[in-house]
Amino acid sequence: ATVPQGIDARSLEALLTRERAAWIEGRPKSVALHERALASQVNGTPQHWIRQFPPPVPLTVERATGARLHDVDGHDYADFGLAGTAALWGHDHPAIVAALRDQLGRGSVILWPNEDHVWVTEELRDRFGLPCWQFAVSATDANRFALLLARVTTGRDRILMFNRAYHGAVEQTYAVLTEEGVTPLPGVDAGGVDVRRTTKIVEFNDLEALERELAPGDVAAVIAEPVMTNGGAVVHPDPGFHAGLREITRRTGTLLLIDETQTIPAGPGGCVRELGLEPDLITMGKWVAGGVPAGLYGMSEEVAAAAARYTQHGDGGLGSTLASGPLAVRGIRAVLEEVMTERTYAHMTRLADRYARGIEEVIATHRLPWHVGRLGGRVMYAFTPEPPRNAGQPYPRSAALREALWLYLANRGIALDGMSGAALFSPLTEESDVDRHNELFAKVIAELVE
Ligand code: PMP
Repeated sequence: ATVPQGIDARSLEALLTRERAAWIEGRPKSVALHERALASQVNGTPQHWIRQFPPPVPLTVERATGARLHDVDGHDYADFGLAGTAALWGHDHPAIVAALRDQLGRGSVILWPNEDHVWVTEELRDRFGLPCWQFAVSATDANRFALLLARVTTGRDRILMFNRAYHGAVEQTYAVLTEEGVTPLPGVDAGGVDVRRTTKIVEFNDLEALERELAPGDVAAVIAEPVMTNGGAVVHPDPGFHAGLREITRRTGTLLLIDETQTIPAGPGGCVRELGLEPDLITMGKWVAGGVPAGLYGMSEEVAAAAARYTQHGDGGLGSTLASGPLAVRGIRAVLEEVMTERTYAHMTRLADRYARGIEEVIATHRLPWHVGRLGGRVMYAFTPEPPRNAGQPYPRSAALREALWLYLANRGIALDGMSGAALFSPLTEESDVDRHNELFAKVIAELVE
């Protein structure tokens, strides 16, 4: 296992052994439920990849309130994972709960539209700048439809993505750039999709490579997070990168798809508004309906015209019978109208600042060669001194250290994101929980340093 510079390997091993045992010891009901689950679920988890999270048996939740989780064994956790952005507004935001409760008495799934649909698409148009919007069930779903529309609009069949980006369970994006070029993501069978044929990949912030790959004019769309959140660190665009990306895509007749699913903590109009971006397509999901599954994709007039052509004959189409159900749409309206305000974001950002400062102080005290990545209400530290310029750059990711930190904190009532160790800040997050995290972080690092 790679141990980042400054961390003592023996202390790390000892801490891991102790914290794994403590986790099991304190959770007999979670252990028993996991035993049962192993007989009827892949990996004993409702989605197979949840098994990859740090705890030896999953955190088994009895209920969630505010920005806290309560497990079946009686433990409470300040939840900084917030379902990987899906619970960004907290677990029981009063405005969202009231709207959803009210809608439950008026119908959950109806194929006919209502006033909320129009309110929502008008609001999305005004907030994110694209004229035309459609509903989906998830961010994955939105990305699939948006990429299909890009192919339909341009008549081209390839896509381009940035190395180590994640855009959901979309087969064409299950690929990485290696010395041999584009290769299937290790450990994932691309389901018959030959990613070498469907997908081009360049490193984020590399305009020269982008220019080269788009020059032949065979790429339908570039799909991009505006700031990378999934590559093990927060990767910001260089000054001028987005302007270059837009200029090259326009010049080569390539559409630009901005995936705003995880970058919405940047501000109430996401990075699209914060950075003044002008994409042809925008996708989002997770947080959009305050906990009800929903995705959204917005498009330019040109793409909307292609969508109309594509769907005017035959039985095929884009969507799902569940996609624009009134329960989800009511949730989206409550989120946009009552939650995604400057005031909400001021609270989220203030607490994120406080958390980041706590970590920076510990890093400085021990002179660790680490840095803290920020995007509004999202904080993620990584074990490298400078923020990486792309997600392919090598530095110690250290799964062992991430696991140790996660377990130490969770055994003491703080739950970070299980996948990445990132922290998110909701309107319901409490300052005292941030302070408790910061005290514990100082203690665990003091135990682990050389
Ligand atoms: N886009 C991005 C940027 C994501 O990070 C994710 C999931 N982490 C998705 C899309 C897919 O979201 P979902 O799994 O909810 O469909």
